[in-house]
Amino acid sequence: MESKRLKKIPEKVTIPLKQHQGTICEALVKKGDQVLIGQKIGKSTSYYSSDVHSSVCGEVLAIEEAPHPNGNKVLSVIIEPTDSMETVDFVSSEHASPEELITLIQEAGIVEHYGAPTHAVLKPEGKNIDTVLINSTSSEWIGGKYKTPKEYADQMIDALKLLMKAAGASKGAIIVRKDDKESIEAFEGVEVNGKALKVAPLVGKRRLGHYFKDQDSNILVASQERIYGKKILNFFTYNVTGRKVKIGNDPTDVGVAVCGVKSAKALYDAVHEGRPYYETVITIEGKIDCPEYMLVRIGTPFKDIIESCNFEGEIGKIVANGVITGVAQYTDEVPVTKGTTRISLLTEEEVLRDEAIACIHCARCVDACPVSLVPSRLTVLADQGRFDEARQMHIENCIECGRCAVVCPSKIPTLQLIRYANDAIGKAYEDAAPKESSNLKLGCCGGE
Ligand code: SF4
Ligand code: SF4
Repeated sequence: MESKRLKKIPEKVTIPLKQHQGTICEALVKKGDQVLIGQKIGKSTSYYSSDVHSSVCGEVLAIEEAPHPNGNKVLSVIIEPTDSMETVDFVSSEHASPEELITLIQEAGIVEHYGAPTHAVLKPEGKNIDTVLINSTSSEWIGGKYKTPKEYADQMIDALKLLMKAAGASKGAIIVRKDDKESIEAFEGVEVNGKALKVAPLVGKRRLGHYFKDQDSNILVASQERIYGKKILNFFTYNVTGRKVKIGNDPTDVGVAVCGVKSAKALYDAVHEGRPYYETVITIEGKIDCPEYMLVRIGTPFKDIIESCNFEGEIGKIVANGVITGVAQYTDEVPVTKGTTRISLLTEEEVLRDEAIACIHCARCVDACPVSLVPSRLTVLADQGRFDEARQMHIENCIECGRCAVVCPSKIPTLQLIRYANDAIGKAYEDAAPKESSNLKLGCCGGE
């Protein structure tokens, strides 16, 4: 599972001043300035924003709009690195108060991989968080910064305590994948509050509430099936806690903060070593001859990573963050950002070029949908612009897992059409009150 650090220093790094949801940072440097590793180069301009740091030593070449893996151009600090590894002075904060931790998280530039600034997830304005979850079900993110599973388990428990302290939450849990035996074994060797942890399987209505009482502990590790999708937060929260999150709301509206392994590890490093978030672990997939996981400096162009992979043959397509739900890149000059989790390299032959044909009503997409939607019908409604009807069929519950598109024999771009409709619905119903889900899998008839 150990990752390889990309040793080569890029000829140029591009660090976007916005790598998070919320407002763009204000540049703290100008052309010609010399910067050190870990130096803050962008300052948040509001609470819902997160600082950015240099990942290299070097000279600022420009502050200009540059390609971003989300497909847009974003104001970025372009730096020409030197070979120096000099860093700013890192100062640990072992005894930070909850308020100081929130400030530290924002100033260390820690954000969730889906873009939310972590401090705003833990301390959302006007809401109280009582439970913090670390979603560790995508265990490939574990591959990376930890030497052993034991080190990973120890650091994650410590990070969970820090996240709970920052949020003022009384309970916390780490959720691992039920087939991730290595992690489960590692967690079961850790002691919490004087007792050995016992990983709790989340099955049916046996959710976290049951195990908090059963194990008489405010900290748990639980296991469940992996939930895959771009918009899983509400679904994940209901599965784990039984708390229903209305469409249009997010888990913080029901007192739950969901964080990822990357941000938990970044907080651990910021507190114990004083290091801000300037490098990240990504997964590389394709016909490559390199480690599957790579530790890279934020701002490294994709092309530098690709060059180190010894790709077999001609690259037909580069996709950021997953072939099914990610974004195809038009240039390999785009940089790795805090939101980059995966780079997929496809050969010419692997690029899907089949024309879509008419739906044959096989219902494979319906069987595949983890949240009981009818993708075939939603696709027709989306294509015809019948968004009200699509909304009545709970299109907003789509977690963007892409399974419907994968199984469709007619090659209908179901996910793209559903996304398109949801974008339009999101704009049209911006001011509408959050609505209850009538979806069984999202808790219409259950919940705590
Ligand atoms: S509609 Fe498709 S993309 Fe959306 S949750 Fe169902 S299977 Fe996944
Ligand atoms: S899988 Fe494709 S062809 Fe089959 S019902 Fe769904 S949309 Fe139609």
